Formats: sequence, C-alpha cells, structure tokens
Amino acid sequence: MLDDIEREVQYTRKMIGKNAFDPRVMAVMSKTPRHEFVPKSYLDAAFDNGPLPIGHGQTISQPYIVALMTDMLELEADDIVLEIGTGSGYQTAILSQLCKKVYTIEYIPALADAARARLQNLGYDNIESITGNGYDGWPEHAPYDAIIVTAAASHIPKPLIDQLKPGGRLVIPVGRPHLYQELMLVEKDDEGELNIRDVLGVAFVPLQGERDEHV
Ligand code: SAH
Repeated sequence: MLDDIEREVQYTRKMIGKNAFDPRVMAVMSKTPRHEFVPKSYLDAAFDNGPLPIGHGQTISQPYIVALMTDMLELEADDIVLEIGTGSGYQTAILSQLCKKVYTIEYIPALADAARARLQNLGYDNIESITGNGYDGWPEHAPYDAIIVTAAASHIPKPLIDQLKPGGRLVIPVGRPHLYQELMLVEKDDEGELNIRDVLGVAFVPLQGERDEHV
C-alpha cells in the first residue's frame, strides 16, 4: 500500500507541489491496521490503494487521499483537530497519532457508533466523537488548529472557518456532489485573512445537511 501511495504521489506531483509526503504521515499510514476498518467481505482489498464501501452508501477513502489530506494539514504534536465525516474511523485513527486530540463528527448514527467502538477497541484514546451535522462544526471545543472534511461540500461552510484558529488549516473537497470536486486547502493567517488554494480533483460522497452559510 505504501508503494502504491508513493507511486501516486509521483503521478500527481505537479498538482500537489511535492515529491513525497511527510515521513511522519507515511510512518503512521504504515502502522495503522486498515483491515480493522473495512467490512469483512472486503478484507482481501484492505491494503489496496482504493476506496471501499462501508455500508449506508458511504465509503472508506482511498489511502493515497487519506495520506494527502493528512499531509496537507501539517499537524504538530500539540494540535487540536476537528474531523467532519468519521465514516469508518480510519482517517480519525491516522490523525490521532499525529496530534494531541481529535474531535470527530458523523452524520449517520450507525456509522458513528461502529467507529467509536472500533477506535476504542483498537486503543486510540485521544478521540472524542459525536453523531451530528458537521456543517455546524463543534463550537464547544473551538478553535481548532486543523479541520478536515471528508465529504463533498458545495461551498466552504462559514461555521468551520469561524472555528479555525488564526494560523490554522482546513482541507475540504468542494464542488458538485456525485460528480467531482476540487480538494481545497484553506489557510487562515494570523490576521484572520484566508488564503484558498485548489490542490487536486477528487470524488467524495456528498456532505449531507448543508445549510447556506457561505464564507
Ligand atoms: N473519513 C472516512 C470517510 C467516510 S465517507 C473514512 O475514510 O472512513 C464520508 C462520511 O461523511 C460518511 O460517513 C458520511 O455519513 C459523513 N457525512 C456526510 N455528511 C456529513 C455531515 N454533514 N456531518 C458529519 N458527517 C457527514
């Protein structure tokens, strides 16, 4: 799986502007048991570099995309991270090994419950999760050093920008649901100004329950 990710980094190097991901990200990708996060019927494909169905019409993201989004966040050990779209909990587990605390929100109660139990059983102990609409963020624990959205939004939700620390980074796929989106990196500088950049064309399942609070 690691070789496949490295190969895809090479294919996409012009778009993503780098030849390799942070070795800390790759180390965590290598030691996280992805087979624990996929349905039993897909165990054979657990270490392929592709997305897989996890039920309820949702998917566990492709490993290359998980590594890319994690790399884009440039996490530090002390960071507090918000994740929207827990899904299987795989991306959550990756993030949790690179920061101090992950708060994660999942819209579908059955997926949220399964991911919570899975992450606890596997011993990841710096994660707090809730069922809810991530469009609104999780104001109680804001502001966050980094925010990651793993479902396709039609626009950047203002509540998430409001909950991002100055100096913080937000990674989010933005575009037309069910078609393709641009993976965007939003940096908030120390004065609160936003710098927004398109990084790569991607395809995510839609962000549900969107409201109309544009940036
Ligand atoms: N990172 C996950 C990706 C799961 S797919 C993984 O790799 O397993 C995207 C997830 O976002 C789905 O589980 C979907 O239910 C969830 N989702 C969609 N809209 C949401 C919303 N408004 N708030 C929280 N989660 C949402």
